[in-house]
Amino acid sequence: DLTINKIAAGEVVERPSSVVKELVENSIDAGSTKVIVEIIDGGKKLIRITDNGCGIASSEVDKSFLRHATSKIEKIDDLYDLYSLGFRGEALASISAVSKLEMITKTKEESIGTKVIVEGGKIISKEPVGCSNGTTIIIKDIFFNTPARQKFLKSNHAETINISDLINKLAIGNPNIQFKYINNNKPMLNTPGDNRLISAIRSIYGKDVCENLVKLKYKSDNFEIKGYVGDNNVYRSNKNLQHIYINNRFVKSKIILDAINEAYKGIIPINKHAVCFLDIKINPGSIDVNIHPTKLEVKFENEKEVYIELRDLIRRTLLNNHL
Ligand code: ADP
Ligand code: MG
Repeated sequence: DLTINKIAAGEVVERPSSVVKELVENSIDAGSTKVIVEIIDGGKKLIRITDNGCGIASSEVDKSFLRHATSKIEKIDDLYDLYSLGFRGEALASISAVSKLEMITKTKEESIGTKVIVEGGKIISKEPVGCSNGTTIIIKDIFFNTPARQKFLKSNHAETINISDLINKLAIGNPNIQFKYINNNKPMLNTPGDNRLISAIRSIYGKDVCENLVKLKYKSDNFEIKGYVGDNNVYRSNKNLQHIYINNRFVKSKIILDAINEAYKGIIPINKHAVCFLDIKINPGSIDVNIHPTKLEVKFENEKEVYIELRDLIRRTLLNNHL
């Protein structure tokens, strides 16, 4: 139902950056190794996401715009398995309800692709088209049919910053994927996609930030952790330099930041925020992620244990590095 989709869109699609988030997460879920994000006017005028993932078969294309249509839940238990990014089957339905959408997609099994145009949730046209494997989605005129929400958008500049921050997070969280980001026809970012976290950090934040990062690699019964923490005081006031991913999701975690700061105490005095790029894998059953798209706070079941283990791990690593 188009009205329900329009209302539901409010939950998923708050602003252009939320559209970019949902679409890029779909590209990641589709197994892409290259994702191109292009925006014009902070995404208000145009968002184009191109990936080289699995694509959608012509026979499945219409379905992907239906609410709760997802190819990602086999059984209801999977709802609790947070390894897959998308599982609500709401994004495409919601986004297409409040924009003018064009999708070009092809699976590798098909010899010809599909081009579909959706406006305000209605499929306007669907036809075969020659294209390469993967999916391109173009979103034009976001909120064209919900003027109240359109008014709520910030300036092009502010919306662009939101999108840039998001792309940085996605690129650092997925160093195996080459991310290209183009803003108003200007290339902004091109990560190598060489599966090295440090390469992604370097291409986004520059080599200065990479200096003095301490490498962590550790596995226990509680969690597995890979990444870097920083003692680069110059950058400590920059909150953008805190990247924590749990099971591939960007999250905020005060307990982890506290553990890092505590570990540094007595070794290297730090005054502001910890610099960290952490990729943490943990049994999904032992964390509680508030799965609302805009809420990222994660809670650990055995919070105290995780805190102590992480603090001691970082402290040990720092001491080894500074001897
Ligand atoms: P969800 O991601 O929660 O499954 P979405 O509304 O985001 O729901 O997407 C609906 C479905 O469309 C997905 O389950 C997937 O099958 C398909 N899909 C969407 N984007 C892509 C893409 N870039 N590549 C391949 N399939 C896609
Ligand atoms: Mg999705």
